[in-house]
Amino acid sequence: MSIAFEPASETEAAGIILEAAAQATPLAITGGGTRSGFGNRVAADHVLSARKLSGIVSYNPAEMTMSAKAGTPMAEIEAALAQNRQMLAFEPMDHRGVMGTSGEPTIGGVFAANVSGPRRITAGAARDHLLGIRFVNGSGEAIKSGGRVMKNVTGLDLVKLLCGSHGTLGLLTEVTFKVLPLPPASVTIVAFGLDDAQAAAAMAHALSMPVEVSGAAHLTESVRYRFIGSSHPEGAATVLRLEGLPASVTVRAEKLKAAFAKVAPATVLDHEATEKLWRDIRDVKPYADGTQKPLWRVSVAPTAGHQLVAALRLQTGVDAFYDWQGGLVWLRMEADAEAEMLRRFIKGIGGGHATLVRASGAVRAATPAFEPEPAPVAALSARLKEKFDPRGIFNPGKMG
Ligand SMILES: Cc1cc2nc3c(=O)[nH]c(=O)nc-3n(C[C@H](O)[C@H](O)[C@H](O)COP(=O)(O)OP(=O)(O)OC[C@H]3O[C@@H](n4cnc5c(N)ncnc54)[C@H](O)[C@@H]3O)c2cc1C
Repeated sequence: MSIAFEPASETEAAGIILEAAAQATPLAITGGGTRSGFGNRVAADHVLSARKLSGIVSYNPAEMTMSAKAGTPMAEIEAALAQNRQMLAFEPMDHRGVMGTSGEPTIGGVFAANVSGPRRITAGAARDHLLGIRFVNGSGEAIKSGGRVMKNVTGLDLVKLLCGSHGTLGLLTEVTFKVLPLPPASVTIVAFGLDDAQAAAAMAHALSMPVEVSGAAHLTESVRYRFIGSSHPEGAATVLRLEGLPASVTVRAEKLKAAFAKVAPATVLDHEATEKLWRDIRDVKPYADGTQKPLWRVSVAPTAGHQLVAALRLQTGVDAFYDWQGGLVWLRMEADAEAEMLRRFIKGIGGGHATLVRASGAVRAATPAFEPEPAPVAALSARLKEKFDPRGIFNPGKMG
């Protein structure tokens, strides 16, 4: 699909959307296009791009807030923050590797898809850092959260609602969000040779210790070489990140390493190696393999992730590793997506969400990408969609 509309201002965007609504012309909304394959296929012939709605509107390092137009490249945001030794605490994943896309991720796309990373277990998701939004609804009205409120949805937290709606409720034009100081020091404790169940227990123990772990992942034997190479002991690697002031990180690392020494050989990665490792975990490096093998992102209770994988392994070819203390499972299926079996097993371990991140066109056409909503939630979603986008022009079909 080529870009049909590329407004350079919110007013221009509102005009385009008003016209599209009048003609009932569906629009596929895009930012940098790096996550365009996410979700179900969009039934629209025309692309509305936010790319030209670009630029940092205001940045106040002392107050630790930034406002940026939705199409601002993430690289521009991150460079501005780095100059002031600040960062986005929620570590948004870059999907280009696993999805095989090119282009520049945008800040609007990050919030529209609620894209978060390993620090989510302690810092929260993208939506937890979003303070305000401006967007255009499906009637061509420009709305500012906290300012003008849509009359028929008064009382709803529009910021939370739009974040994660994947462009199905409105075109984000501007976002205002919190930022945090960059931790001056970080290390990663790596314990070797634990199986999945032992690692789940060890990570739970580490998270319960007063050492402020800010990332906990288990890199199974099949993927660990893609993360840390072979210059370490054999076997799976269980990795725990500590961040903060140098003296504090040193003391906490000693405590954590001592705790781990009781169960497995452990080593410590320095700041530079830590930054690289967690960027690779964030971006799911082992499965950025240039294939279209189905890739699932499954979030379940942290103690249940390894049970899910064990059950699946008895039935089908699957490769997996764990983030979020075992609660975020990245699953690459060797052949079929096995959506029905996966979702049945997730129910069996107490529930959770499975999202199909990547698959071939044929598999995507046959597989609902998002976790099917229970009927009452689906009815609520449909009513919201009707209020925000009465002509159904935004990303039709994307979320089911
Ligand atoms: C520390 C931690 C502990 C957890 N413990 C448990 C637990 O004990 N049990 C458990 O079952 N889960 C647990 N979870 C998982 C959690 O309950 C949810 O599954 C998780 O928040 C889903 O988040 P997400 O990032 O996948 O997607 P989110 O963006 O948070 O959205 C949730 C799901 O809703 C869908 N969605 C988002 N926006 C929309 C929209 N606008 N319209 C329709 N659908 C939408 C998405 O498909 C997504 O899968 C835990 C998660 C964490 C981080």
